[in-house]
Amino acid sequence: MPGTVYDFFVQWHLTEKCNLHCRHCYQDIAVPAMAFEETIRGIDNIREAFAAWEKDYQMEMTPAFHFTGGEPFLRNDLYDILGYVRKYGYAAALMSNGTLITPADARRLASLGVSEVQVSLDGLEAVHDGIRGEGAFRRALEGLKNLVAGGVPASINLTLSRLNSGELAGLVRLAEKTGIGAVTFSRLVACGSGGALSGEMLTPAELAAFYGEVRRLQDKASVVFTSRDPLFTVSGLEDGMPEAEFPLGGCSAGVFGITIAADGGIMPCRRMDMTIGNIRDVSFRELWAESPVLWALRTRESYHDGCDACAYWAVCRGCRAVALAGSRARGGQDYLGPDPQCPYYRAAR
Ligand code: SF4
Ligand code: SF4
Repeated sequence: MPGTVYDFFVQWHLTEKCNLHCRHCYQDIAVPAMAFEETIRGIDNIREAFAAWEKDYQMEMTPAFHFTGGEPFLRNDLYDILGYVRKYGYAAALMSNGTLITPADARRLASLGVSEVQVSLDGLEAVHDGIRGEGAFRRALEGLKNLVAGGVPASINLTLSRLNSGELAGLVRLAEKTGIGAVTFSRLVACGSGGALSGEMLTPAELAAFYGEVRRLQDKASVVFTSRDPLFTVSGLEDGMPEAEFPLGGCSAGVFGITIAADGGIMPCRRMDMTIGNIRDVSFRELWAESPVLWALRTRESYHDGCDACAYWAVCRGCRAVALAGSRARGGQDYLGPDPQCPYYRAAR
């Protein structure tokens, strides 16, 4: 539609190497990373799709590349890759464990105009180190302070489970004290090494209580909460919202974003761990238009036993990765069933 602005993000895993071994990591099999030239060709492949969408649909694209890993700061061509996407005017952000970020890194990130560095903190020191290893908290905090001192927008991300749902208020206080502008969270997806933590996932009632706490903190804290968790969005909706038969918001998978794995594998979302092609040998534009998996994610009738009949489908659809992980735990491969943590189902009219 002419004049439409299309926010689209590419989550790009530049490496699977990591200097930490977190209990909830969703990466279980290491794959070799693409070299610099292949990475640039992959970015160009996606650029072609952006250009075609803008021309064909007269849309204004506002794409963002979110680079992560593994640990992206282990990639020694990181700044060349960031420079390449910035050259085309795309927003670039990073997701990192924070432990390797020096003052010099912060200066380079600032000079490239990196829009945000999200650092994982799963709680204050005892809880964070219990999940990510001794000393990880202190080093991550050092990295965060370097970012703030260097003028790079920084945020804290919590991977939410029963292990740390009580840590939020402490993290918010830490952010306020340190000058970190945003706090976010994403729900634990019990896959990869994190599969062993499936018993630590919050129940629907516990999740609703957590969202309630976020909203109470939001009212008085100076930081902003930026979670893309669709159920968090639903938790703040008023009744009477319009229903639609096409996605307007909610889960990004198949709609507003794509993941590129370190080896070029293309996934609807990294946490779904379903490879639908490889950026080295498909046209991204064609894959986006034709992939049956992506179409299923966009189509209400593909869903079953919950979201398909829910008033919030267009703005939610639950977390497809949580749904898939739940199905896999029962021996299935179903990514279109109910989100087992959902407390908000409301029958569609
Ligand atoms: S049933 Fe699905 S669409 Fe409805 S609120 Fe729950 S997760 Fe969201
Ligand atoms: S599957 Fe879950 S983690 Fe992935 S984009 Fe959707 S809501 Fe986010």
